[in-house]
Amino acid sequence: MLAAMATNADSPLDLLWKEYSLVFREFDDTTLARWLAQTLGQFAGRVWRQSHPLLGAYRLAAQLAHERQIWLKRLATVPAAYSAAPCCRAPALPLLTRDVRETGLICQHCTETLLPFDEIPAPIRGELETWAARYEPVHAVAHWDDSQRKAADYDRAAENAAEEAERLLAQAGRNLAVKLLELYAAVVWEDQDDCLEVRPEDVRL
Ligand SMILES: [Zn+2]
Repeated sequence: MLAAMATNADSPLDLLWKEYSLVFREFDDTTLARWLAQTLGQFAGRVWRQSHPLLGAYRLAAQLAHERQIWLKRLATVPAAYSAAPCCRAPALPLLTRDVRETGLICQHCTETLLPFDEIPAPIRGELETWAARYEPVHAVAHWDDSQRKAADYDRAAENAAEEAERLLAQAGRNLAVKLLELYAAVVWEDQDDCLEVRPEDVRL
């Protein structure tokens, strides 16, 4: 969804999210900083689905805070469990995605890399490597070209891939994201796969 929003800034979905974000635009800097800090307090100690409505609201507020450089102004006290993100100095709140090997963990505030893959501590990095390597060919089914689709029973292959993606995403939420709590106060995990038409409600923990 983030990629879609970035490449197609005026898509109907993007316009809807812009409309949603208007509520935060009415906040002054201090109010916005306090709202973010309080919500971070509620996030602490747990992993969160990317689709969670509270996370969606937080992301809108965080984007605005990034635009306004809120975190550099030190307007509110961030819960002590959060370290500062090297990318933008916001409290570190990582997003785990299937592209972790290429992108590392993603910052929920500036959407840049919060922690490059090769800097993730070894034991958990190995598990993420194995998981992402298993996910890659599963996801690739959604992007098969015509010749690949003709050579196989594509509908069946796509259905199997979607089911496998549901299992892999659940593993991320149940296991991998939880292990990242050793490094971060709270962790967000991607709980859908648009290309394979796997929705958050398909990923059961
Ligand atoms: Zn950042």
